Amino acid sequence: MILDCGEGVQRQVIDASVGLGSDMTILITHLHGDHVAGLLGLLQTMSLAQRRKPLNIVGPAELLKWLQVTSEMLHIGLTFPIRFSEARPGTVLRTAAFRFRAARAVHSVEAFAYVVEEYGRPGVFYPEKARELKVPEGKLWSRLQKGRAVVVGGRRVEPSQVTGPPRPGRKIGYSGDTRPSPGLARFFSGCDFLIFDSTFSRKDADKAKERKHSTSEEAAELAKKAGVRKLALTHFSARYTSTASLVREARRVFPNTVAGADGLTLSVDYPS
Ligand SMILES: [Zn+2]
Ligand SMILES: [Zn+2]
Repeated sequence: MILDCGEGVQRQVIDASVGLGSDMTILITHLHGDHVAGLLGLLQTMSLAQRRKPLNIVGPAELLKWLQVTSEMLHIGLTFPIRFSEARPGTVLRTAAFRFRAARAVHSVEAFAYVVEEYGRPGVFYPEKARELKVPEGKLWSRLQKGRAVVVGGRRVEPSQVTGPPRPGRKIGYSGDTRPSPGLARFFSGCDFLIFDSTFSRKDADKAKERKHSTSEEAAELAKKAGVRKLALTHFSARYTSTASLVREARRVFPNTVAGADGLTLSVDYPS
């Protein structure tokens, strides 16, 4: 999954060893250069790598138009189909592993924020309970582990008899460029991880308002309101030579905050 495609996206895809032919969904928040400039090049590189699998792209309706016009003008022949889903509030796409939802962001052009929800996992499997119910080890155990019922000697055994309660999947939120809003706080509620616009420091709050971005403090306030578990600040203005002060300002409001950076790897824990 790729969230927006800035200029450097190809290098990052290669550095992160993301297979160019693998199952992938690209989410584009809005049509500003710093969020789409890398998309065409990425599609071209995928074609050079002979990608065959369809590629999911979610974004504003205009994105598809832009892709069609530019790839025609530049004679880019793709080796794989694009499955485009138009962003609109609500569920926009379901894949084998995730559900993708969108909400309107508050920016200078039409823009969307996204929540990616991993499907829940079946509960913890208790082998002793399966043995007690005389379910033979092997295929039938794995069926039960996957949350499906089995029949043993004419008796039906439900997964709930041998497993704990289903475990929720992880939930990741991404704001794109936006002002904070009560709607977004609701939209991101309960995310395990939130990546939020943090273009400005609090001393430049007026610029954040004017240019429809957020300060790191506003990002932190929203993270707190939404009850997320971890916040990553991103999209820093080039005027700041270091992000340390932006992180400090945010941590005063929401301690579990980190600054996004090129090549940074973070893991998202399962909710307990
Ligand atoms: Zn923008
Ligand atoms: Zn931007």
